Amino acid sequence: MPRARVHALLTSLSLIGATAGGIAATALPGPTFPFFPDAAALAAHCERGLARARVAQARLERRAADPGWPAAYDDLNALIEDASGPVSLLANVHPDKAIRDAAEACELRWQDFTSSLGQNEPLYRAALRVQPRDAIDALLLKTLREDAEDAGVGLPPAQRSRAKQIVDRITALAQAFEQNVRDANMRVAVTPASLRGVPEAVWRDARRDDQGQLLLGVDSPTYTAVMQGAADATLRERIWRARTDLGGATNLGLMGEVVALRKEYAALFGAASYADFTLRRRMAHSAREAQALLDEVLAAAAPRERTELGELRAAKARELNLPLEQVELKRWDVAYYQQQVDRERFAVDQEAFRRYFPPQQSLAFVMRVVERVFGVRYERVRNARLWHPDAQAYAVLDANSGRPLATLYVDLFARDGKYNHAAVWSLRNGSQRLHRLPQAALVVNVGRNGLTLDDLETLLHEFGHAVHNNLSATRHSLQAGTSVLRDFVEAPSQMLEAWVYDPQVLKLMQQVCAQCPPVPDALVAKALAAKRHGTGVLYTRQWLYASYDLALHGPDAPQPMALWARMEGATPLGHVAGSMFPANFEHLVGGYGAGYYGYLWSEVIALDLRTAFARDRLDPAVGARYRRIVLANGAQRPPEELVREFLGRDGNAKAFFDELNR
Ligand SMILES: [Zn+2]
Repeated sequence: MPRARVHALLTSLSLIGATAGGIAATALPGPTFPFFPDAAALAAHCERGLARARVAQARLERRAADPGWPAAYDDLNALIEDASGPVSLLANVHPDKAIRDAAEACELRWQDFTSSLGQNEPLYRAALRVQPRDAIDALLLKTLREDAEDAGVGLPPAQRSRAKQIVDRITALAQAFEQNVRDANMRVAVTPASLRGVPEAVWRDARRDDQGQLLLGVDSPTYTAVMQGAADATLRERIWRARTDLGGATNLGLMGEVVALRKEYAALFGAASYADFTLRRRMAHSAREAQALLDEVLAAAAPRERTELGELRAAKARELNLPLEQVELKRWDVAYYQQQVDRERFAVDQEAFRRYFPPQQSLAFVMRVVERVFGVRYERVRNARLWHPDAQAYAVLDANSGRPLATLYVDLFARDGKYNHAAVWSLRNGSQRLHRLPQAALVVNVGRNGLTLDDLETLLHEFGHAVHNNLSATRHSLQAGTSVLRDFVEAPSQMLEAWVYDPQVLKLMQQVCAQCPPVPDALVAKALAAKRHGTGVLYTRQWLYASYDLALHGPDAPQPMALWARMEGATPLGHVAGSMFPANFEHLVGGYGAGYYGYLWSEVIALDLRTAFARDRLDPAVGARYRRIVLANGAQRPPEELVREFLGRDGNAKAFFDELNR
């Protein structure tokens, strides 16, 4: 069972009321979110779910391998999702640490169950024998067989049990890694005077120590505000180091162990590297093919990066009133001077957007965009009992028929102990066969004082994943929505990012918030110009993350820190001695191991898909076609085929490189 979570990408900066419908008292379609008064209740729920899954598994093993078999297997998957989906979300968002810990313990039990299921020989043999009814069932069977083979079903007994041990151990290590980041509760003591340039809303409510110093967190809103705004370079450095090193040396050790285990795992199957072992099932086919795209991106972005860094350095020299040759640009200078250059050259300041985008109204706006383009309607359900008072629940309805389609949960604001990036959990995958409606949870960390345009872009990106889950209309739950190939899964989200730079789209804000001042077109145009201007720094950083990931999972399986120091050291800004970025690089220990390249890979597809909306980003006819072909089909047809049918031609990289080179 794949991990049902999709992240936002790490950009160079973030290492990282009103409702759309407004009608109260709608019921949520499908089951309500489970409520656990304490850790013991969660543990008991876990136990019951596992017991039911064991019974269902035994029944499936006895079942005939007839054409109804794929559906029966999928029934088991649905049962597992219902029992385990909400638990893996709670492990990341519940305010009570005891419940988070119980949820993590439960996740490990489910991992143990599903890794055994993946190696189940009677089920594998049945999957080999079944004569599929059609192409959809055939693709499901193929995926099940390949997953079982990759889980070691064909290995001799000793190696097979080693494979399972490795998989379970990696899950535990990844959990510990993420916990170290999440529960670090890092605070940096700073004097109020050192905060010049940082919006007061970010630090006003921070706790103080006995010397009156503010204890500043390193959550995304605070971190970004300091990195972009703080005039005090020492402060920026301290916050940069605190955030970059979250997880600490312990996590470097955990990552090293994960990487070595993955290499050992691939070797059980005779593969030279974990990257090649994994990528042979993906659109990229091999690490070589993935790296070839990455290097094309680097070739296009590197000259721009040099120019941009030169401008940032010049801005620093001007500010410090020093000759250029005496000025060195540091990592913690990049976002700050980017903001300055943006302000000087494009007269734009991300902070200036907050007044136009209050958090709740921004959520309503994003919903309205999705309503317009994809023909749905969101209705808030206020009586749902959720994990935290900030969490919200929405029913998603088909606009034409009023038919309930899905449930969406949203958790907007940062708090201690909460997952600190942006991600969507597919709690429940839909299935037409089972009349099973999908459920997703969107988790971000936006400031209560409003969103920057960058934040709005992240929110819409994550919303794209939620929509992919919610508007899936596949036969089987196993093939629903975001269960598509990892190097395709980001494309629907990335496609939507450009929508926040479109004045026509932004006008929808006034439909959901009459009292919100309209964001001036000129301000948005400037932000877009600034964004384009920053692509050199952004894409070379993405190249570094993705190439690092592939090298880490390559034939040598090197030490994470040594490799990072070497690779980052070869970039124009070099490596910052003593810093340990891999300690906070959660993607690589979680589901994105050897998969980070997928962000660039699927961005190429995203820009290609976007060409269909070139004339009108809100065109409901194109949106409906996109929903019917790309979103509804999830993983029940190969991604290349969906792209071809939607665009009326084969996919290509032209739009991506045109944009990068413009
Ligand atoms: Zn994403």
